[in-house]
Amino acid sequence: MKKCVQCNTEFEDLRHSCPKCGSTAFQMDMDNASDIFDKQTKAAELVTQGDQLMQAGNFKEAEKVLSRAIEINPYNETAHGNMGGVFYFQGRYAEAIPWLEKALEINPNIEGVPEALREARAKAGANPKTTQKSGCFIATACYGSPDRQEVETLRAFRDRRLLCSRLGRRFMDTYYRLSPPVAQLVQSIPLLRLLVNTVVVNPVVAIVRYIDGKTTNVRE
Ligand SMILES: [Zn+2]
Repeated sequence: MKKCVQCNTEFEDLRHSCPKCGSTAFQMDMDNASDIFDKQTKAAELVTQGDQLMQAGNFKEAEKVLSRAIEINPYNETAHGNMGGVFYFQGRYAEAIPWLEKALEINPNIEGVPEALREARAKAGANPKTTQKSGCFIATACYGSPDRQEVETLRAFRDRRLLCSRLGRRFMDTYYRLSPPVAQLVQSIPLLRLLVNTVVVNPVVAIVRYIDGKTTNVRE
């Protein structure tokens, strides 16, 4: 067992961080350290490989690779989170939920997963009317409605590509924290709304459509 230096909680050797406080500083028995490290490294390599497969849209292979990662290290939270992503991006929201829950259970501080879990639960909900159209707060504020096509483009882009990568998840995490106040401000000042719309949102939509067009061509 490892012992957290910060809160003294004991936890499984294969865990990367303390399940109680999230600290990555721990004490461990040096006798089996190299075996533990090997397993963690191998699993992490497979997670990276799975990440690339997922981003390329190869969900079947990504699932296989992530399964192997979890077999080697059942405490790799990213493998569980990304397995959730594999199902999420295929629209299999109900199947995504247990993987995302497990990722959170392993590491309560894992970035992006709480948001993904909330969305998966909303989208898997039986009554589509209660499904929340979450979204791009800033774009929604600028265009006045979450149903505008530009907003849809951004939302689809976020769902398929941004949540895929760890960096993307970190970006979304920051974005969700920062953008509601910005969106509120934009909504309350018409001139600012026009400005943000012209300068920020429209070019972003154009870029996203361009990237989307390119990747769709490559894939199909
Ligand atoms: Zn701790």
